[in-house]
Amino acid sequence: MSKRRGHCLCGQVSFEYEGPENWCGHCHCESCRRNTSSAFTSVLGVPRTAASFTGRKPSVYVSSPGVRRSFCGNCGTPIAYETDQYPDEIHFYAASLEDPANFRPDFHVHFAECVSWADINDGLPRYDHSGDAEIMTDEKQSQKDHAGVRVPPPVIFLLPLLAGLAYDSAWAMGALAAVVWMLAGGFLVAIGLALLIASAPRHKRAGTNIEPWKPTTAIIDDGIYGYSRNPIYLGMAFVCAGIAIAGGSFAALVLLVPCLVVIRFYVIGREEAYLEAKFGDEYRDYMSRVRRWI
Ligand SMILES: [Zn+2]
Ligand SMILES: [Zn+2]
Repeated sequence: MSKRRGHCLCGQVSFEYEGPENWCGHCHCESCRRNTSSAFTSVLGVPRTAASFTGRKPSVYVSSPGVRRSFCGNCGTPIAYETDQYPDEIHFYAASLEDPANFRPDFHVHFAECVSWADINDGLPRYDHSGDAEIMTDEKQSQKDHAGVRVPPPVIFLLPLLAGLAYDSAWAMGALAAVVWMLAGGFLVAIGLALLIASAPRHKRAGTNIEPWKPTTAIIDDGIYGYSRNPIYLGMAFVCAGIAIAGGSFAALVLLVPCLVVIRFYVIGREEAYLEAKFGDEYRDYMSRVRRWI
C-alpha cells in the first residue's frame, strides 16, 4: 500500500503513514471543536508505528492529562492527537491530507455534542460517545482482517477421510489392512507429520496466527516455507493419503481429490487474495519465488 501524506498550512510540519487506517470518522466533541475551530473534526486513526513526522517537529499542547495535541508552531494548524489511553495509535486530521478526497468516514462520534447548525445527513451511524464507535470499529477490524476462511482446514481434510474409511476400509470392518498398505501409508503419514512439525510451530514464533479466520501479521518465507507456500496443507494431505492407504480405503483416497479442490479454492485462494491485499509486493515477491504446493 502506498504512503499517504499530509501537511499544515505553511508546509513546515508534515506527516506520512503507510497501510490502512484503523478507522475513519467525524468527532463532534467540544475539545476537538475548539482545538480545530470547526463545527466538527474529520479524523483517522493509524498505528503509531505506521506513521512518522517528516518535516519540522510539531509543537505539543497537553489539553488534558495524557492527551497530546500537536500543531505547527509556525502557522498553528492542528496536526495530530495522541492519548495514553491508546498508546499504539495516532490520530491525524483528514482535512490536512494531501489527498483528502480519499477519506472514507465510517461514523460520527460524540454526536450528542454536535452543534445545532451543522446539518448532517450523510446516513452514517451516529454515536453519542466514542466508546460505541470503538466497539463497532473493533468488530469491523476483526471481521475484515483475515482471509474469510471460517471452516477449519483440518475439518475439511478429516470429514472426507472418515467418510471414505467408513465406506470401504478394512479397519471399518474390524480387520487390519494388508501389511504392504500399512507400511506405504505409514511412510506417507511420516512425511506429512514432518511437514507439519517443520511449519506449524513457526507461526507462533513469528508472532502471527495459524488460523485463517484470524489476522495474519507476518509473512513467513524461510525454512520449509522457502520450498512450499502451504506446507501445512501439504502435510495434512500426506497424512490423509497415508491414513487412507494404511486403512486400505480406496474411497478415502479418491475423496482426497475433491477435498484438495476445496482447500485450493476455498482456503488457499482466499488466503492468497487476503495476503496480497494486505502485504502487497512483499507477498507477490514471495509468490514469484516459492510455488503454491511443492
Ligand atoms: Zn505550519
Ligand atoms: Zn473529539
